[in-house]
Amino acid sequence: MGIKPADALEQELKRIDGKGYKAYKDIAGEYDFKHFILFIDYVQGDPFASPSRVRVRVARRNSGFPQDTTANKSRTVALADFLTRRFFRQSKTVAKGGRGTGKGGMITIDNPGQQILERSSFLINDDFVEARCFVGLPAFGRKIAGRDATAMFFSELPEIVHSSMFFSELDQQALYRHIKTAEDADAARSTLSEKELIAFIADQSLLPRRSGIDDRPLDDPQAVLFYSDKAFRVTLDLPNNGPTPGMGIPRGVTLIAGGGYHGKSTLLHALERGVYNHVPDDGRHLAVTAKNAIKIRACDGRNIEKTDISSFISNLPMHKDTSAFSTQNASGSTSQAANIIEAVEAGAQAILLDEDTSATNFMIRDHRMQQLVAKEREPITPFIDKVRQLYSEKGVSTVLVMGGSGDYFNVADRVIRMTEYLPEDATEAAKAIAGADPVGRREEGGTGFGRIAKRIPIEQSISPYRRNQKMKISARGLREILFGETEIDLTDIEQIVDPSQTRAVAHAIYHAARYMKDGMCLQELTEKVIADIKEKGIDVLTPHVTGDLAEIRSVDLAGALNRMRTLQVRQG
Ligand code: ADP
Ligand code: MG
Repeated sequence: MGIKPADALEQELKRIDGKGYKAYKDIAGEYDFKHFILFIDYVQGDPFASPSRVRVRVARRNSGFPQDTTANKSRTVALADFLTRRFFRQSKTVAKGGRGTGKGGMITIDNPGQQILERSSFLINDDFVEARCFVGLPAFGRKIAGRDATAMFFSELPEIVHSSMFFSELDQQALYRHIKTAEDADAARSTLSEKELIAFIADQSLLPRRSGIDDRPLDDPQAVLFYSDKAFRVTLDLPNNGPTPGMGIPRGVTLIAGGGYHGKSTLLHALERGVYNHVPDDGRHLAVTAKNAIKIRACDGRNIEKTDISSFISNLPMHKDTSAFSTQNASGSTSQAANIIEAVEAGAQAILLDEDTSATNFMIRDHRMQQLVAKEREPITPFIDKVRQLYSEKGVSTVLVMGGSGDYFNVADRVIRMTEYLPEDATEAAKAIAGADPVGRREEGGTGFGRIAKRIPIEQSISPYRRNQKMKISARGLREILFGETEIDLTDIEQIVDPSQTRAVAHAIYHAARYMKDGMCLQELTEKVIADIKEKGIDVLTPHVTGDLAEIRSVDLAGALNRMRTLQVRQG
């Protein structure tokens, strides 16, 4: 094959004009467009099928991006993100679609949200800058619209490429702000551990969002900017922003209290999202959380496969074993117990909990209830009696939103009280109340946290093949994966925030399966996959390059595996 002159594509399109759609297959290949190389990697089978996969490669030398735009990983990822956004916007104005049938005429690329994620949409290295986009090849009915295709490849695509892949054509100030913001966030996140913090929120951050379905910052002059209480204030020295004061949340057990509607959940939500970088102007771009902090919630109905939940649940009626607990239909409290155990098993450093999405009987069991229902008759050991052991024995910190029960004052290292969206240190007040007004409840946590069993997935239980022997690995929206005959419901894995992450998780499950014959446990498997991505790039997840994958975390991959209804494991 080899590379052909662009003229060859033009002639080919002339030749197949008006023929049946299948003849488009002949245009696959590499073409030299002088300023860039066009790779037509995959040609769709019909005008309604998923669009064709196309790459555009510009020599790094010609693209003009200075060395300092890719001086480190943070900058390179942010530059790729910036270019993806630019390419997306340009393609929306230049090539909207509307050429003939189906998706004909469309040129597009992945569309990032508020997060700056490492993506497969752009690859930037010392040799070239490469965009991975999607093209809807045009047709009238099922007949090839050769002249429209020519306009797309020879006029529209070059225009998009010209305006989005060359340094001289870009808003350079915005570009540098983008990469410096991401660099600062990464620097902040990487200093958390030496400062023994699990999260940091810079003063003047804007945490509230526009709506429950709109992740952009609340657009309201009345919105209250975040400022730390002096008790929690730390100052991080960031490479671009310099000394940056804000609230540090130390390791241990942190309670977020405060009246309803005073901003507790909004703060926790910012902590959840702080595992990722954000665009400048997001408001949370200097709010960072330890990478492996994991949001936990109750999600009844989920599948559990041989998880040792005996730390939280034991003495079930009918003597059901909880040291290797399996169910197709977990209750709220059992699902939450399993979510925590599995998060620790997967290597979480911190867990984030909100009373809004927790099972009450998992969180608390008060003095009166202890009297009415004897411990022997209550299978659940509430989280309040385990949260300290979780930290002291397993090193896992907790941040917990709890406006409804003061029983937690006894077990918290600190209490942040939210008042009109601002944090105050209420630790002493809470401890004084706990001393003066003892709740009288008995601790039920026993002498230790209990066992976190390592589980080893069995390869045969992870099959991507459908009954017709065809492989199926795909994502449906943000919260569902189709894997062979199995649907994986990711409703409660709330830190997957982008459909391209969902797709990556789907492929990562298959990637993980290749290590399963070696008898690796879940944590080893999922960390191995992430290490492979780190070493070889995210393209390693798929057999063919595709521009619609985004970075994932090992704990979320573990979460997806754990929710797979076919999963079988043995405890190691
Ligand atoms: P809580 O969990 O304490 O009940 P929420 O965090 O759900 O409260 O916040 C209640 C409402 O206030 C939400 O609509 C949220 O968007 C809004 N809000 C939160 N923080 C701010 C802020 N800093 N400025 C303005 N509005 C805010
Ligand atoms: Mg709330």
